[in-house]
Amino acid sequence: MKIAVYPGSFDPISNGHLDIIERTSKVFDKVYVLISVNPNKEYMFSVKEKEEMIKKATKHIKNVEVEAYDGLVLDYAKLKGASVIIRGLRNFIDYQDEITLFQFNRSIDENIDTFVLFPSANNLFLSSSSIKQLVKLNADISNYVPKCLKDEIETKIKERTK
Ligand code: ADP
Repeated sequence: MKIAVYPGSFDPISNGHLDIIERTSKVFDKVYVLISVNPNKEYMFSVKEKEEMIKKATKHIKNVEVEAYDGLVLDYAKLKGASVIIRGLRNFIDYQDEITLFQFNRSIDENIDTFVLFPSANNLFLSSSSIKQLVKLNADISNYVPKCLKDEIETKIKERTK
């Protein structure tokens, strides 16, 4: 059984994240979407909220599970029997971060590899922070977040940036 872990902040989940999850789920038997903590980031959504939102957005994908874990992604991968970590690569900034993370993980455990996916064209410039920015500026986010979450994401960002 081929198992992958897709870790991220998902603050909030975007169509870019969802696209990576859908494509990964076609190649692996099981995909764990892992809500992890990046100490360099401040979050607007709680772990519980993110978990519920990602579950709603991935309900149609049978081999996806959503969980949170605050330890090392590598430890979580081992716990789940996963051999691959999935990451998305949009630009050179992602490249720098991802190659560093990859080398770091590889030096700890060379049995767990990292596979990188490029975004589909529509999602190339999409990030969770741009979604927050757009809502603050009253712009339409319909093209950027899963349909079933649009209202909830808009309402929560507006409430929290008053
Ligand atoms: P992290 O804090 O771990 O970077 P993010 O939620 O920002 O968490 O991103 C999780 C992963 O998804 C990262 O590998 C990131 O590069 C990727 N990603 C984020 N947005 C997109 C997008 N629009 N298209 C493809 N990959 C993306």
